[in-house]
Formats: sequence, structure tokens, C-alpha cells
Amino acid sequence: MNLNRTVFVRSAASAKDFPSGTQGRLVFVGRSNVGKSSTINCVVGKKGFAKVSAMPGKTVYVNLFNVEDKAWIVDLPGYGYSKTSKEERSRYSKLIDEYFQDDMDMIARMYLIVDIRHKPTADDLTMMEWIKAYNLPVTIVANKHDKLKPSQVAPAVELIRETLKPDEGTLLIPFSAEKGTGKDILISDMMAALKN
Ligand code: GDP
Repeated sequence: MNLNRTVFVRSAASAKDFPSGTQGRLVFVGRSNVGKSSTINCVVGKKGFAKVSAMPGKTVYVNLFNVEDKAWIVDLPGYGYSKTSKEERSRYSKLIDEYFQDDMDMIARMYLIVDIRHKPTADDLTMMEWIKAYNLPVTIVANKHDKLKPSQVAPAVELIRETLKPDEGTLLIPFSAEKGTGKDILISDMMAALKN
């Protein structure tokens, strides 16, 4: 399977537009502005593919990408944008709920993207709890690694683990969408997830 052959299919606003078929879903989640679009662009080797958000929090859609009819890359809307209205927030919860209900059995792996520079937010924690409650396999992608000095990386990773408390053995990838750090590890993990 060649990730460079990923194509954008559609943005789904409700369950009727979610993918059909049993191909594995690789699902990307994270708070607004964490670099989720940049991460997807990095792994598929295209610039400006998943939209790098001009207006964080404004797009409450599930963006669907297909890889050679063998897998779906699912880009869930970013959460935690401070200026999000109550209405948008409830639309967000409803859409995510619908997505999990609809696609649960096909989810090969969740990719929770956090900012390596900061302690995970309350929203990150809520998402992690959700993932654990549904017993979904997860990999943590700690993005913006290029913003840290080498000596800061280990303590930052430790703080993320301590806060999110993933199950033992959960992979955490120090990552930079900008520099490509961790890209090969992330791609291998995606491929392995689809084989399970
Ligand atoms: P999204 O809202 O999560 O999809 O985030 P975007 O991909 O739109 O990125 C948000 C901002 O963070 C943009 O200005 C990106 O250029 C920047 N960004 C994303 N990834 C990285 C990274 O690895 N390093 C740095 N320094 N900036 C990044």
C-alpha cells in the first residue's frame, strides 16, 4: 500500500456520508492547531493536502481520505478551540459520537496528536478516556518536536505519559510534521495496524 496514492474523498457532516466497506480506518484526532492536518500531509507526502487550518475550530467535518481502496484515513475535527460556540461544541460531540458508533469495528488504530511542548489539555484527556472506554488501539503522536531542545524531549514525553496514562506498551512517537522527524515510525505503525 502506498500512502503517496492517498486521495481526498469527501468531508462528512453526518453518518450518511461516513465510509462504507470494511477497509481499516486510521483515525487522526487532536485539538485544533496541534498540527493534525500537517501530520496527515507529512505521512501522505503532499503539501496542502489535508487543509492546514486558517480558521481553527471552524470545520466540524470528518474528512475522509482513501488509500488505494485498501484503507481509510479519517481526519476527525479538531477539538478544544477556545472560541467555539456552544452550538458548534454540541455539533462536534454529536458528530464524533456518530462516527464512533458507525465505524467502531473498522477502526484499525487511533492516532492521538498532542503538542510535545505542553502538558496534555483537559480535552486531550477526555479524548483519551473515550478511546480507553471504547477499548480502541491508540498511538500517541507528540508533534512539534522541532520546537524543543534535545534535553527537553525526555521530560516532555514523560509528562505526556504521566498525564494521559496510556496502557503499558502504547507507542508514543516524538514527531515533527515540519521536519519529518518520526515519519518513518508513524508510517510503519499505520501499516502494522492495518495488518492486525
Ligand atoms: P490542525 O488545526 O491540527 O490541523 O493544525 P495545522 O496542521 O493546521 O497546524 C497548525 C499550525 O502549527 C500551523 O501554523 C502549522 O504550520 C504548525 N505546525 C504543524 N506541525 C508543526 C510542527 O511539527 N512543527 C512546527 N514548528 N509547527 C507545526
